[in-house]
Amino acid sequence: MQLCIPHEEDMIRLGMSLASLLKGDEIIYLQGELGAGKTTLVRGILKGLGFEGRVTSPTFTLMNVYDSHPPVYHCDFYRLEGGDLTDLGLEDYLGKKGITIIEWPEIGASDLPQDALIINIELVDGDYDQERMVMIRASGPDHSKLLEELTAHVHISH
Ligand code: ADP
Ligand code: MG
Repeated sequence: MQLCIPHEEDMIRLGMSLASLLKGDEIIYLQGELGAGKTTLVRGILKGLGFEGRVTSPTFTLMNVYDSHPPVYHCDFYRLEGGDLTDLGLEDYLGKKGITIIEWPEIGASDLPQDALIINIELVDGDYDQERMVMIRASGPDHSKLLEELTAHVHISH
């Protein structure tokens, strides 16, 4: 699915739409350059889950855990150095109930599950003030079903 997202608020709304379909064991990979809108989308997801606290970028902490329902494990691998992925204990989280969202998954790629929702956010003409093109694809049966539901949902509500 491909979407044009004109403003920050629309990215928040997309996150909220996605949140309404999550069951609690999903893995979501967010791709796109710095400033594309990955963390903004995560803010929308947490808002949609009813989390009212502050959502910050885990660029330096590598992972922020939110006690939303279901919980969210928000990772950013941009500053991940070799070996850190095991130190992070991400495998422990992946087995638990919770939604795992990873910015820059390509940096830790070889150790990550294949079965996921993959969201790619792109700037138009390299302009940070313009709309974003958002491409969403899925791998694996569960995430493919989620993508189908999201496609139907977004067509009604956006
Ligand atoms: P990333 O996590 O990809 O580095 P952020 O979400 O932290 O990016 O930052 C995106 C920035 O781009 C924010 O300052 C936001 O206000 C701005 N922005 C402008 N237009 C959009 C849009 N259409 N969607 C998302 N963010 C946008
Ligand atoms: Mg970010």
